[in-house]
Amino acid sequence: MDSCLFCRIIGKEIPARVVYEDEALLAFEDIRPQAPVHILLIPKAHFSSLDGADDARQDVLGRLLLKARDLARERGLDRTGYRVVLNTGPDSGQEVFHIHFHLLGGRKMSWPPG
Ligand code: 5GP
Ligand code: ZN
Repeated sequence: MDSCLFCRIIGKEIPARVVYEDEALLAFEDIRPQAPVHILLIPKAHFSSLDGADDARQDVLGRLLLKARDLARERGLDRTGYRVVLNTGPDSGQEVFHIHFHLLGGRKMSWPPG
C-alpha cells in the first residue's frame, strides 16, 4: 500500500519514534500526543480497520493487545491505569485507515469519551 501513511512508516520512508518492532508489529509515538504516553501499535501487514479484519487476523490482533500491555507495564502504567483505543470508521474519528491501537496513559482520563 504505497499511499498508506502507516505502511510508509513501516517502510522507513517517513520517520517515526519507534518504541518496539518485530517481524509482525511496529509501535511508535503518536505525532500529536493526547496524553504523556501516546503510542500507536500497528501490524506490518496492512488492513484497514477492525471492520476490515477477517478471522485470520486473530493472532496479530491478540499480539497487538498484549504488546500494548507490555509497553504500558514498561512505563509503569499498570500501577496507574491506561486506555487502549481502537477507532473504527467515520463516527469514531478514525483518520488513518491502517488499523492501529492507541495506548494512552500518564494522566487521568474521563468517560464517556468525546
Ligand atoms: P485515528 O484517528 O485514525 O485513530 O488516529 C490516527 C493517529 O495517527 C492520530 O492520533 C494522529 O496524531 C496520528 N498520526 C497521523 N499522522 C502521523 C504521522 O505522520 N506520524 C505519527 N507518528 N503519527 C501520526
Ligand atoms: Zn498501511
